[in-house]
Amino acid sequence: MQKIEPVKRDEFGYGIHPAISMDNEHININSIPYFSGMRITATSFELDAPESLTEDYFDNDNYDISDWQPTPPANNAILIAVLDTEDGPYAWFATPEPQKFISATKTGRCANGSQLDHGTVRHALPAESYFWGCKSVALCGTKPGRRSVGFVSDKGKTTITCARCAAKLKKLGGEVVEADDA
Ligand SMILES: [Zn+2]
Repeated sequence: MQKIEPVKRDEFGYGIHPAISMDNEHININSIPYFSGMRITATSFELDAPESLTEDYFDNDNYDISDWQPTPPANNAILIAVLDTEDGPYAWFATPEPQKFISATKTGRCANGSQLDHGTVRHALPAESYFWGCKSVALCGTKPGRRSVGFVSDKGKTTITCARCAAKLKKLGGEVVEADDA
């Protein structure tokens, strides 16, 4: 995902990110691949702005909304557009979706059962590369051995006990979810 710069607002407080194109005065931000992997939300000027500003806009026909600081939906949300609509101005934000991980253990060799207890450390596996018994690489870099059954998750378990996985997960701001096949 590329780094997205916030939109530059003009002297009246409006603006649109250069990656967004207008079509018949409509924008469909969700259709723009540039923002894929991000959640797009809109904040209404009417509901969000202080009353002095909304009165000025709706009652006094003052279209200067440059004093409005739209409330972002999350701390890491990026302002990508401020536009006038039939329902008054709206501010659009793009918020990066947290990367999803599965908590899984490395099972030992099942041939004799003697090493099944190796699977007590819970690693973080990128959700998109996880399936039951996968031999993907965990965040810490570990992966199941040649004779291992592979990584397996457990229903309801979302804790990560591998210290290196946990540290990386925190740095990435990732989210641990239950596996579909747990
Ligand atoms: Zn790990």
